[in-house]
Order: sequence, then C-alpha cells, then structure tokens
Amino acid sequence: MTNLFIFNTDFRLRDNPALFHASQNGKALIAIFINNPKKWADHNESNIKIAFQIEHLKKLTKELDELNISLKVIHAEGISDENQKIIQFVKDNEIKEIFINKEYGFNETQRNLNLERDLKAINKKLNMFDPSVFTPESIKTQSNTFFKVFTPFSRAFRSKLMTKKIEVLGLPKRQINKIQNSDTVKNIDLTENQKNILKLYPTGEETAQNKLRDFIDQKILEYKEKRDFPAIDGTSSLSPYLSSGVLSSRQCFYEVFRNNSEENEGVKTWNSEIIWREFYKYILFHNPRVSKNLSFSEKYDNFPWSDNQSYFIAWSEGKTGVPIIDAAMKQLNATGWMHNRLRMIVAMYLSKNLLIDWRKGEKYFMQNLIDGDFASNNGGWQWSASTGVDAAPYFRIFNPITQSEKFDKKGIFIKKWLPELSSVKNIHDPSSSERNYIGYSKHLVDLKESRKKAIEVFSNFSK
Ligand SMILES: Cc1cc2nc3c(=O)[nH]c(=O)nc-3n(C[C@H](O)[C@H](O)[C@H](O)COP(=O)(O)OP(=O)(O)OC[C@H]3O[C@@H](n4cnc5c(N)ncnc54)[C@H](O)[C@@H]3O)c2cc1C
Repeated sequence: MTNLFIFNTDFRLRDNPALFHASQNGKALIAIFINNPKKWADHNESNIKIAFQIEHLKKLTKELDELNISLKVIHAEGISDENQKIIQFVKDNEIKEIFINKEYGFNETQRNLNLERDLKAINKKLNMFDPSVFTPESIKTQSNTFFKVFTPFSRAFRSKLMTKKIEVLGLPKRQINKIQNSDTVKNIDLTENQKNILKLYPTGEETAQNKLRDFIDQKILEYKEKRDFPAIDGTSSLSPYLSSGVLSSRQCFYEVFRNNSEENEGVKTWNSEIIWREFYKYILFHNPRVSKNLSFSEKYDNFPWSDNQSYFIAWSEGKTGVPIIDAAMKQLNATGWMHNRLRMIVAMYLSKNLLIDWRKGEKYFMQNLIDGDFASNNGGWQWSASTGVDAAPYFRIFNPITQSEKFDKKGIFIKKWLPELSSVKNIHDPSSSERNYIGYSKHLVDLKESRKKAIEVFSNFSK
C-alpha cells in the first residue's frame, strides 16, 4: 500500500500538491529524486542551481524522515531513460499509486504522458497535479484562444485572483509506516568560484518562507520606486527559490494578500512580476516551439544572426567596453544572479548591437544563473531580441549608456564591479584617453552604428 511521489522542480514540502495528495492515505510513502546529470547538461542547467537544489533536498530529507516518508535516489541517463527507471522502481517496491506535479516543457510533458501510458500497462495510476496558480487551460481570451499579449492576460489573471481566494496546502500527512531508510543525496562537483556563489544563497524551505515574509513586511511598499536600480537592494531576490520550486507563486500571492491589497502600487507592481512568471509558463505550455530551440514567432526562423564568437566571448566576460554591460556580466559571473534591468540591457545589446543569436545568450544565462528558469529566461531573451511573444519592437533598442545614466546615475553599481573605473570622469562612458590610461576595453562596436545596422537588418528581414 505504498504510494510514490516523484520530485521534479518542486523542492518544497508545503504547497506541494502531488506530495500532499500522495500522503493522504497515510499508510506509507516514498519520495524519489532522479539523479540525472545528462538531463541537466542537455537542459543547460547550471551546476550551482543543481547544487542549490541538492542542498535543499538534504534539508527536506530530514523533514521527510520526521513524517515517516523516505527519500530514495534513482539514477537515469537523460530524460528518455527516466520512465524506465521509475517503472522498475514501482515494480521492485510494489508501489500502489504514483504522484507527480506537471512541468510545462515539451519533453517533460511527453515524459509524463508516456509514463502515464506505461504505468497503465502495468495497472498503475499516475496522478498528475498542476502546481501553477491557475491552470494554463483555464485562462482564455473571449474567443476561446490563448493569450499572446501580457496585458490582457494579466487582466484575466487578476480578475481570477480577485474573485478566488488563494489557498495554500500545508505539510504532507505523517505516515503510519516508514518502510525504508532514506538515501543520502550526493553532492555534485563544483569549482571554488561555484562553491563561493552557493554560499550566497542560504537553503531550506523555512529560509525561503522567511525571505518572502521579510520582503513583504519591509520592502514591497517601495518596490515600484526601487525595483529598477541595480545598486539598490529593492527587489525580493526570491528568484532562486521560485525557480527551484522551494517557493510557489501561490505562496507569494497568499502571503501578499494576508496583509496587503492591490491599492498599493508597490504591491500591484510586484504581483505583476509574479504574473509575468506565470505568463511565460503559460506561453511554454501553449506553444511547444518554445521548447524546441525555436523563436516564438516563426517569422524569425531564418534570421541572419551573426556568428561572431569573439564578440560573444567579450560579452560573456564583461569586456565590451560598455561599463554597465561589463559590470552586469561580472555580477552574473561572480554571483549567479543579475538584476532584472541589467538582464534586459545585456540581452538587448547582445541580440541587437552585436546581432548575435539570442539563443547563445539564453544558453549562457541558463548555464550560469542560480535562478535559471527555462520559461522566464526564454521569455526574457525573446522579449529583448524582439522574436518573442509580446516582445519589444525591433526598432526600440535600449541605448546602454542612457540606461546606465538613468538607472545607475552615480555609477555605484558600476564601481562595485569595475573598481578600476572609480576615478574616471564619465563613469557611464569613459573617454578614450582614460580607457587607455587604466587599461579598460575600447567599445567592441560603435553604439550608434550598430543600432542603425540592427534596425536595417530587422527591417529588411521583415519586408
Ligand atoms: C533576458 C532575461 C532573462 C531572464 N532569466 C530569468 C531566469 O532564468 N529565471 C528567472 O526567474 N527570471 C528571469 N528573468 C526575469 C527577472 O529578471 C528575474 O526574475 C528577476 O531579476 C529576479 O530577481 P528578484 O527575485 O529580486 O525579482 P523581483 O523583482 O522581486 O520579482 C519577484 C519574482 O517575480 C518573477 N519575475 C520578476 N520579473 C520577471 C520577468 N521579467 N519575467 C518572469 N518572471 C519575473 C521572478 O520569479 C521573481 O523572483 C529574466 C529576464 C530577462 C530580461
């Protein structure tokens, strides 16, 4: 009479629908974690994100043990190998029913459908749960199609949010029998830099819950005014926890609405960001192209992206000669995280001024972010490259110097990551002689010329 719960990207015990329901018969429950380095590599998951998840899992194992739920680790070689390994585990352990939360990527959806079929063939039932705030099938336009534009989507989302009280699930039920001892989850190898990055993000579900509450108690009311300035700690920094499913979007709304209403602009703006997160998952669900390394808009399938590898390397190492971009890339490389305003600036520079395929930037981000989230990362990149759903129009290209002057006026952020620029006169764009003097890179490309060229290429391509 043992049930089985399969961990996906949902490393939490609370508000975890599949785990909660798996525990309800209360007799015996095993949770499994699939150790699958090949899948992680195929999906460009960063080592720090995986190590972060493993640290959480270790803490969860202790809590699971207290609930008499054992954690077992199974090994698989790529996503296509997972079902076979799960089926074998089900047979070996005489599992009754299997519980899993849905994921929206094409491969993950296929895997679950195949798993359901294969389990049915041995008379077992797969119970799938939707962990999103509102299921992607439940938000539709008046003509019964799915939304492709954020604003009307968020209006429809909000109207549901206002009429339906958000509930969260509690801890899974304690089981009567503990049938096996838990396995130890093994660490993955990290470089010294990666180990240092990991230390920046304390793990544990309680830590994440406290961070959420602290943000809501102390910062959310000023979020709208402060969120765009990278030198200010004005955002929640919850993305690593949300991306690994240590927190759910539902928990965010639940906590927000406990003490606040959307009458406050800070609250409203923060909620919008959680809605963006749900929107990109919705887009992923409704549009399999997104999972297949293709742009949302088919029109861009044969776009003449540049293949300039030396430009790409300079961008990734923070050596473009544009201080705000270089500082942002240094922040990413040193901390595994980058401020949202900067993500837009560096993504637009790569895909417009350098005309480099946004997929290269998307991949680099996934491989280096602690909060790499396929849907949001892909959405952010395609927004910046103008190939995506509700994307920035191709002719509206950020000028990184103007952005720098506006959002890092005193250059505090730039100086933190590029201390060598501390004494230059114009921190946003040092003169050639100052660059020579301190040994700071020249502009990789002329910003005006490259902007003009990008508009020409996009415009000719759109004809
Ligand atoms: C090119 C590009 C790539 C990005 N890649 C990722 C990624 O891999 N993972 C990721 O979580 N976010 C990504 N974002 C969105 C955003 O930059 C981060 O979510 C945000 O910077 C995280 O910081 P925070 O937790 O302090 O956010 P807050 O401002 O406090 O926002 C709260 C939460 O809302 C969600 N959110 C905020 N902004 C967005 C957005 N624009 N799109 C979707 N969700 C959002 C995040 O879950 C975030 O934690 C990307 C944006 C761009 C432009």
